[in-house]
Amino acid sequence: CNLTATCITLIILKYSWDQLQLVCALYVSSAVTLLDSKAQQTELEWISSPPSGWEEISGLDENYTPIRTYQVCQVMEPNQNNWLRTNWIEKGDAQRIFVELKFTLRDCNSLPGVVGSCKETFNLYYQETDVEVGRNIRESQYVKIDTIAADESFTQGDLGERKMKLNTEVRIIGPLSRRGFYLAFQDVGACIALVSVKVYYKKCWSIIENLATFPDTVTGSEFSSLVEVEGTCVSDAEEEADNSPKMHCSAEGEWLVPIGKCICKAGFHQKGDACEPCGRGFYKSSSQDLQCSRCPAHSYNDREGSWRCDCEDGYYRALSDPPSVACTRPPSAPQNLLYNINHTTVSLEWTPPADTGGRNDVTYRIICRRCTWEPEECFPCGSNVGYAPQQSGLTDTYVTITDLLAHANYTFEVEAVNGVSDLSRTQRLFAAISIATSQAAPSQVSEVIKERVQQHSVQLSWQEPEQPNGVITEYEIKYYEKDQKDRIYSTVKSKSTSATVNNLKPSTAYIFQIRAFTAAGYGTFGPRVEVTTKEESTGSATVISSEQNPVIIIAVVAVAGTIILVFMVFGFIIGRRHCGYSKADQEGDEELYFQFKFPGTKTYIDPETYEDPNRAVHQFAKELDASCIKIERVIGAGEFGEVCSGRLKLPGKRDVSVAIKTLKVGYTEKQRRDFLCEASIMGQFDHPNVVHLEGVVTRGKPVMIVIEYMENGSLDAFLRKHDGQFTVIQLVGMLHGIAAGMRYLSDMGYVHRDLAARNILVNSNLVCKVSDFGLVIDDDPEAVYTTTGGKIPVRWTAMEAIQYRKFTSASDVWSYGIVMWEVMSYGERPYWDMSNQDVIKAIEEGYRLPAPMDCPPGLHQLMLDCWQKDRADRPKFDQIVGILDKMIRNPNTLKTPMGTCTRPISPLLDQNTPDFTSFRLVSEWLEAIKMERYIDNFTAAGYSSLESVARMTIEDVMSLGISLVGHQKKIMSSIQTMRAQMLHLHGTGVQV
Ligand code: AMP
Repeated sequence: CNLTATCITLIILKYSWDQLQLVCALYVSSAVTLLDSKAQQTELEWISSPPSGWEEISGLDENYTPIRTYQVCQVMEPNQNNWLRTNWIEKGDAQRIFVELKFTLRDCNSLPGVVGSCKETFNLYYQETDVEVGRNIRESQYVKIDTIAADESFTQGDLGERKMKLNTEVRIIGPLSRRGFYLAFQDVGACIALVSVKVYYKKCWSIIENLATFPDTVTGSEFSSLVEVEGTCVSDAEEEADNSPKMHCSAEGEWLVPIGKCICKAGFHQKGDACEPCGRGFYKSSSQDLQCSRCPAHSYNDREGSWRCDCEDGYYRALSDPPSVACTRPPSAPQNLLYNINHTTVSLEWTPPADTGGRNDVTYRIICRRCTWEPEECFPCGSNVGYAPQQSGLTDTYVTITDLLAHANYTFEVEAVNGVSDLSRTQRLFAAISIATSQAAPSQVSEVIKERVQQHSVQLSWQEPEQPNGVITEYEIKYYEKDQKDRIYSTVKSKSTSATVNNLKPSTAYIFQIRAFTAAGYGTFGPRVEVTTKEESTGSATVISSEQNPVIIIAVVAVAGTIILVFMVFGFIIGRRHCGYSKADQEGDEELYFQFKFPGTKTYIDPETYEDPNRAVHQFAKELDASCIKIERVIGAGEFGEVCSGRLKLPGKRDVSVAIKTLKVGYTEKQRRDFLCEASIMGQFDHPNVVHLEGVVTRGKPVMIVIEYMENGSLDAFLRKHDGQFTVIQLVGMLHGIAAGMRYLSDMGYVHRDLAARNILVNSNLVCKVSDFGLVIDDDPEAVYTTTGGKIPVRWTAMEAIQYRKFTSASDVWSYGIVMWEVMSYGERPYWDMSNQDVIKAIEEGYRLPAPMDCPPGLHQLMLDCWQKDRADRPKFDQIVGILDKMIRNPNTLKTPMGTCTRPISPLLDQNTPDFTSFRLVSEWLEAIKMERYIDNFTAAGYSSLESVARMTIEDVMSLGISLVGHQKKIMSSIQTMRAQMLHLHGTGVQV
């Protein structure tokens, strides 16, 4: 055995003793025997030529094993040529054949009497053929391999005797190309015994090396050649990338130079020369890994041979997560969500979630929805909304959301997400907040007109911005010398759409820019207007403006106050105001207080205080040229004549839509005075929520009052037409506008006395403006004569005004409360069909109108506050504006779940609400509540009795196909009343 010690150690380690014997055989001999004469016990029957030459003789080898030998020993005769040829040997795969000869050869000296013909060598030949050939030996066809000589012929025996020495010679032939061959031995006169002939070739035997199997491989044909062999990976192994396994089979049948290797696939690990599956609870994700690893946290597997572990329920692995990391879950909701709202910009801030789900890739995304108020339906905000820094993938815990709509209700959800959020099917966890935006700032003031340019002053006027987005309470005029750029600038404020800027330098170019201010803040400045003041005329004194000199302001106010006081006293003495009609006096502390409390605010002057009413008109109203007015159509009827719509085009100004009140032909002087009185009053006002007087035409016929056009007409009719179509926020927005107009009027010391929804006009932007000034009470169909004299719109009027004609801003506040009720009930008539007498009686007894259907409790409370018996307890308009403003900014205070606002059954209502239990038919009831258009809907749905109707829920009503929210409310409200009546009046309980 030709093995080294190391090799043997390895073999023993690798194999059991039984296997060792086999493997050892493989290693001992990498040879494949083609012919072994010793192994054959029977006659070899090789061909001998001449037959007298080589002779087959049976013998014993050195171990006394029987063997077949060929011998020749014709040393005595000259010219010997004895051939011995083997049988045909099929070579198989072999290319390189080993021939091992064992023989004894006697030296000629040891042979007594031998003559010179004795030889001590013989020749070895071969002949290649594809098939066996005949028994004749044709010498010429043989190729000589070698002349074989003995190393020594004899050896010294133990006892000193000479023993025949057995020689072993190995010769190699090849490369061979035919299927087989013959060997031939030529004896030319020696004495030889051919003890054994062994023919073999060498192979590298199949082996597993580096997890690759290398098959049996025949050595190459050349002594120096190595045969490169590709290995095949054992099962569950794969070739290492770019390193496929190879070995080299040497000519000696030895495996040399292993290159590359196989490695166990994912899910398997190496054990010996094989790959075994990872056990349960273990995994091996890649063939590159050496060992199986235990499943990471929150994962498991119950199969063998896993390349990864599955996540436990509720845990996930992101696509980018390697199998070696723990399974994770979505984070919990962000915490402490806070917001800050600045008009139409909302900033959100929060703190990270308590549970990040085991990951450190938490980001945040914002979901924005805009919600309608009632019924609450929310829709995605769309792409017009801006997010800074972005909407999703936020790594910081804040975001700013811009470009929201004004006065809209939004819901923002802040969701914490991590790498596995999208994989989770569990409910999303987020922090949510509902926010209502406040008003947007007003748009630009763009149309500025230079009314008067002097040496030291410039008078400007301008149009209200196209989109005031609320009540403009102030304008700011910024101005600076053109040369100075706007490094140094000054500002002047104005409550109206005109202003005079004083203390300017003569002959100097100035730049003016104007911006409007609402509760929502300042709008942006409009375009620059350049005005150059006039040259200074020598010797003229510089006029210092009263508007910018506080000393002069005080002086002027004091003088004006005194004058007003005189007027008031005068008015008190004559007991009249309002163009000669006996409305109550506006005397008293409140009025005087107003005059002096707000020295900067203009004070209302009763036109009646003018001796000549014509003067009053021209004092406060601009005389218009009739040619500037184009009458288009009749839109209504006033007391004094038709009301038309048309256009007014003043020189240098854009034409505007106007309403034109005309004085019918054949008027009396008193009628003319009374008609124009309204213009004298209206002309003093300049507020976005008070109808604006454009001017009058008194010098032509017809006599006209030209007012800004209010596209949607009077508020009561408008609300009835759009019953149920507005959100609470929109309704409150309207109320806010009316309150702001009334605040302005009360600040000016004007008491309206006929504040009612019918006297509020609505423009196309839903801006409500107070109108109907002057003599209108008589013209008001709601006004009735009271015992105290004069006509009074009882349902709208405070008790002290009805009883002793105490008309004040506080009584206007009472009326405002009624307007609130009208607005929230979409133009319902206050106190329904109760008689005026009953209304007065009910109010005296302390009853008040209940909350309209779905009216937020806060609003009803405000109404009740306006209806405080003691007028000092009622809120001031300023407070009302503030309260409504807060409600608009925080709409949560306005929420009333639909259908849950059950109206209390007060005696007031019991007396005046129809007794629905007296109706027999559903159709009768529907007619009574003016919803007869839905008779077919009720019939088709099978509601044939009032009992069945009384059980209906809001969902039932909606399922009838009644889509208008206002109508749904009206029907539900009536059903609730009906239910209550059945319960209280007849004891008929209705279970819903
Ligand atoms: P009055 O005489 O002020 O009550 O006006 C009669 C009707 O004319 C009102 O009820 C309105 O429908 C309409 N009207 C009055 N003023 C305007 C206006 N400025 N814009 C639009 N319609 C108006």
